[in-house]
Amino acid sequence: MARQKTLHDKLRELGGNLWWSWQPEVTQIFRDIDPTLWTDVGHNPVLLLESYPPDALEGRATDAVLHTRINWAYRRWQEYMQATDTWGATHAGVLGQRPTAYFSAEFGLHESLPIYSGGLGVLAGDHLKSASDLGIPMVGVGLFYSQGYFNQYLDENGWQQETYTDQKIAKLPLEAALGVDRKPVLIAVDTRGGKIHARVWKVNVGRIPLYLLDTDVPENRDEDRHLTSRLYGGDERTRIRQEIMLGIGGVRALKAMGIQPGVIHMNEGHSAFAGLEVIRERMKEDDLSFDEALRETAAMSSFTTHTPVPAGHDRFNSDLIEEHVGPLRDELGLKPDSLMSLGRVEPPNQNETFCMTVLAFKLCRRANAVSSLHGVVSRRMWANLWPWRSEEEIPIGHITNGIHVASWLAAQMRMLYDRVLPLDWYLRTGQPEVWAPVEHLSPGELWETHQTLKSRLITYARNRLLKQARRRNLPDAALAQMSTALDPRVLTIGFARRFAPYKRADLILRDLDVLAGWVTSADRPMQIIFAGKSHPADEPGKQILQRIYRISQEEPFRGRIVFLEDYDINLARHLVQGVDVWLNNPRRPLEASGTSGQKVVLNGVLNCSILDGWWAEAYDGSNGFAIGNGRTHVRQEIQDDRDAKSLAHILNTEVIPLFYERDQDDLPQGWIKRMKRAVRTLGWRFNADRMVMDYVRESYVPAAGGLSCSMDQV
Ligand SMILES: *Cc1c(COP(=O)(O)O)cnc(C)c1O
Repeated sequence: MARQKTLHDKLRELGGNLWWSWQPEVTQIFRDIDPTLWTDVGHNPVLLLESYPPDALEGRATDAVLHTRINWAYRRWQEYMQATDTWGATHAGVLGQRPTAYFSAEFGLHESLPIYSGGLGVLAGDHLKSASDLGIPMVGVGLFYSQGYFNQYLDENGWQQETYTDQKIAKLPLEAALGVDRKPVLIAVDTRGGKIHARVWKVNVGRIPLYLLDTDVPENRDEDRHLTSRLYGGDERTRIRQEIMLGIGGVRALKAMGIQPGVIHMNEGHSAFAGLEVIRERMKEDDLSFDEALRETAAMSSFTTHTPVPAGHDRFNSDLIEEHVGPLRDELGLKPDSLMSLGRVEPPNQNETFCMTVLAFKLCRRANAVSSLHGVVSRRMWANLWPWRSEEEIPIGHITNGIHVASWLAAQMRMLYDRVLPLDWYLRTGQPEVWAPVEHLSPGELWETHQTLKSRLITYARNRLLKQARRRNLPDAALAQMSTALDPRVLTIGFARRFAPYKRADLILRDLDVLAGWVTSADRPMQIIFAGKSHPADEPGKQILQRIYRISQEEPFRGRIVFLEDYDINLARHLVQGVDVWLNNPRRPLEASGTSGQKVVLNGVLNCSILDGWWAEAYDGSNGFAIGNGRTHVRQEIQDDRDAKSLAHILNTEVIPLFYERDQDDLPQGWIKRMKRAVRTLGWRFNADRMVMDYVRESYVPAAGGLSCSMDQV
């Protein structure tokens, strides 16, 4: 008989599958083992268990009465992994033998696995988690960045500094992926300058395996060993080399493992070379012509575009393409210019460079934008790819993004919902009727739960502010101020996202006198928490950040406007659960969807946002606040000015008065009503279960040979 599993075995197994990270009860077990250490190791179970060998763990489990909870968690996990009665089993049967392969340059799954930079990655992470919960046959394909994106801190001048740390494989939930020969997979991609090799790691995301290619192998030259060290680091050459690894290498890795995808889903254009590799396989294995193989590959491929500005798309010149895709081109039997044509809007235009997005559109029969408005923008932007069609007939549909509820919903809020929603609400988050009973929540309880989360955020923010101030060697008086920064009774606005200039983090700072009036108001004050990173090469983004930092250090803003460094999933979770208002003011229509505003909804936080991205189709007049009227002026300065005025107006006339209008029990009844309305009208639509179900029905099933649908290009 097999040896009984020890507690240590069970926790190691639980920690080896990221499923734990979206189960509050399991997360709580890790925290209860050693709360201080849990924080110090950045919520990484592998590291935590290193400090608790089996004996020490037994002792600790006895002290903290953890045995039953661990056994229960372990059993629940096994049941989850073995379940066969999933939504996917009924609705995605055709994928059973041939799963969807979901390609993405980044995956934001958890703070302990830093291979993401922002929204695109978090979306990909949430996509895998919901696909797992729904039981959709899927594998993820990405790159392993040993140094991740970067860690951010600000120097004394508020200028962003970037630091990089090497992640140790042994300290991460990674295992070597095995090939059909049961040996660790090693793949190679040819370039004109020689081969680039990669090994493959496997991350377990619930039921979904995520495969990450890593070029740090002795077979490679030094230069290439570092190729996958950093996400979005390096120049164009690094970029194309990473992208051939992701696309071509990714398809080869699946092949080596004996995985035959029935659908290729490209999350953004970075992975578009995957299509060329599938074409090559089909030509070789089935003796198809290039055109036939292209048609069949496109039929099974699906592309999600994310970038509504032309400059945001990867473009490569013909030399870079020839150096890196030349060997594959030979095998495809294409002339250099025929290959280039696949990446051009106007195929014969010799001056046009090779665009990954264009390649993706040409290699995928189904394509979608990520919100309704983004669909309109994308159809207009890419109309030249289908010059014979009118704009409405451009074959780019839309599937609006959503967030993975269990990853973003505070445990305390979930407990409230458990009491009023149907028993299995958790499995049916995509159905509107499930959310209707939120109206029965007691206003007092809802408000107190929100207050608890807000206090927790403020404590957390003070600790971080103190650490930041210490690193900048601020005087003791300034340190002391940090421990009283922010006030739990004050209307708290959160603004956190990448500091790309179009997101206009400083829009609310336009008029410092007005701002001073808001934050120092005696009876109706306001405070703001900012966080976010600029891309290392983004000078304008860094200047915006610096301006915010400087203001945060001046009177009367000090302690009332704060900047929290090193935005990541952990900080995001605290913020979206604990602020009162989530501010989002991008330059319309540049926010393809935005997802952080969706994370706040179920936590009872209200959105105050430009009518862009998801909010343009979400706002109904009373489930949050809208900035502007959804119109855009051609001149940017005028638009910025209008939006700043509109923001000030909405704060003065709606947000601030509603928040401070209290009844005899000090409850803001009008505000609470709006919180409930937001949950009821938005929760069911803007979640990742609904999103993944849409992808299954509109994209995966038809692409895998099931029924066709409206998104078909033919
Ligand atoms: C959700 C999230 C984002 C995306 O925010 P947007 O609102 O889409 O800009 C970026 N970074 C992190 C860490 C997130 O959790």
